[in-house]
Amino acid sequence: MIKFLKKPIILLIQMDIQKFNSNRNISFLRIRPCDSDNEIYLNSRKKEGTSSFVVKDDLKLNLNNIHNKNFQTISKTLDIDSDFWFIDDENWKEFNSLNSKRLIYTISDNKEEALEILSRLKPGVVLVNNIEQLSFLSNLNFNKSFYTAKYVNEIEEADRYINNGIDSIWLRDWSIEDINKLQNLSDYNLYETTLISSKFSINEARQEFSKETFTRFLLTKDVRGYKRMETNWYPGSGQNIPKLKNFSFNNISNFESKEFAEIIQKIQTNEEISDEDLKNLFLTSGSKVNQIANIANELNIQKNGDRVTFVKNRNINYTNQCYYKCGFCGFSKGPHSLNLKEKPYSIDIEEVVERTIEAYEMGASEVCLQGGIHPDYTGNFYLEMVTKIKEKLPNMHIHGFTPLEIWQGAETIGKSVEEYLILLKDAGLNTLPGTAAEILDDRIREYLCPDKITSSQWGYVMEVAHGLGIKSTATIMFGHIDDVDSWVNHFSLIRRIQKNTNGFTEVVPLPFVHMGSPIFLQGKSMTGPTWDEIVLIHSLARIYFNNSINNIQASWVKLGHDGAGKLLHAGVNDLGGTLINENISRASGADHGQETTQDQFIDIISSENKTPYLRNTLYTEFSNLENVKQF
Ligand code: SF4
Repeated sequence: MIKFLKKPIILLIQMDIQKFNSNRNISFLRIRPCDSDNEIYLNSRKKEGTSSFVVKDDLKLNLNNIHNKNFQTISKTLDIDSDFWFIDDENWKEFNSLNSKRLIYTISDNKEEALEILSRLKPGVVLVNNIEQLSFLSNLNFNKSFYTAKYVNEIEEADRYINNGIDSIWLRDWSIEDINKLQNLSDYNLYETTLISSKFSINEARQEFSKETFTRFLLTKDVRGYKRMETNWYPGSGQNIPKLKNFSFNNISNFESKEFAEIIQKIQTNEEISDEDLKNLFLTSGSKVNQIANIANELNIQKNGDRVTFVKNRNINYTNQCYYKCGFCGFSKGPHSLNLKEKPYSIDIEEVVERTIEAYEMGASEVCLQGGIHPDYTGNFYLEMVTKIKEKLPNMHIHGFTPLEIWQGAETIGKSVEEYLILLKDAGLNTLPGTAAEILDDRIREYLCPDKITSSQWGYVMEVAHGLGIKSTATIMFGHIDDVDSWVNHFSLIRRIQKNTNGFTEVVPLPFVHMGSPIFLQGKSMTGPTWDEIVLIHSLARIYFNNSINNIQASWVKLGHDGAGKLLHAGVNDLGGTLINENISRASGADHGQETTQDQFIDIISSENKTPYLRNTLYTEFSNLENVKQF
């Protein structure tokens, strides 16, 4: 057995280097031994922020009670069906057949045993007990599959381990004040994770864990993989946005990539940021979110001044019957839908025309047409609808049909996408909505909307439409089973298309409204994005599409008036449409109204010290509505 030397020279050199390693991100886990499985005990641990428990065999606790409260667990024995297990030099061989990412190795001073375990079993986490063990691990010269962790009891101890290169600190009984004190002590960032979110992506967790554990994992993480902070607010909740520190809600979990300052410099010198830069910025958490929002605000002011726009429009969802199986869709009421709150309906073309005339008489300049894919619909249905509206109202702007409807419409009448779009354009179709995009990453679409058109098909329809002079919007739905890579892939595809076609008029981030969504009700999705993620995605849309897409819209339907208003200082310059009759978000549980009137828009915009403008769909005509209230 080789014991550690008292003062190994090579290790001291390593430690000195790490002392100067600034701008590091250190994860923290709030964990404690579990003393009881009763409701009062578990609720109070939850309230104090504990996310994980160490479960001892001798207490014979009811694990279901603990897991039902969304705690994650570690035990020392395979007899306990915990999420992770502690292994050591004595028992590690018993765990040979398990996923090594779920093993936490409590290292001893026995180097040879440690090497054997680390190289054979490849545990996901190594829990150290002293600085020498940490230095030994830092100096290993093989690819490490683990991160290092240490229980720390005091600020000084935590600081010492951080300065010596620990990856994660485990906190028992730490108050928020003490975590903040530690955070403020130096230039490192502390960000909070859960055990599972620190080791598993959503796709990996779906494969690895039971359905119940997968649900627990989804409910306790945000899209970026950080621990989700408890709040009553979520998209569509109808609640006011949570109390913020400037723009950010989660102020105890801070993360910035080590390239953060360099990327900010790029933005400030008007250099285009790369996809990798975008990914780094999407990972930002805590106070640095404010910096990104402020930069987005400046870019918006440079482009649009204090002008904030909206359009008068009517949404007509002609049917809620659909033969597609999108897991997130609370709107479709077809045979595959699980959320049968409303009866299936279809509106015939005459009724669509009537409703369009009614909207026109109320001052709407646009009618937005989209709906489920009814089994009886062919491409001729959409063509006839456009033709009949234009016969009555040649000046009404028809913003209609998702790329899915275009694809399916073309297919059902034996036309190519291009041929079909030409027919629609000739009939009077003006622009396409950018919906059906959801998240443009087929890794995610495979589980979110498996039979829908793929990302490439969506992009293809848009490119062909733009090539024919039919402009469109671009949307992204986020906060369900997506990840940061999928956000980057989505933004990247939109920007590449835009550089070829210049056909996107706006970007519209759509936070996922989870409450009535089948995928959530089945325990297979997150509860929407966090507020901080909403700020990030709007701000970074402004930054990433700077010089390519001028307009970033906030959806009042998903965010409420106060949420959308707040984003007017984070890069957003448009609030969308009045949307008389908005059905889709309500069907997924959104609690905001069906319509926002012109007066309400004027109030929201003016109260944020911006100037309200009515616009047309294409952002080519604007009317100043300052001091105008029409009703
Ligand atoms: S999102 Fe659209 S295509 Fe998918 S099920 Fe719902 S209505 Fe159908």
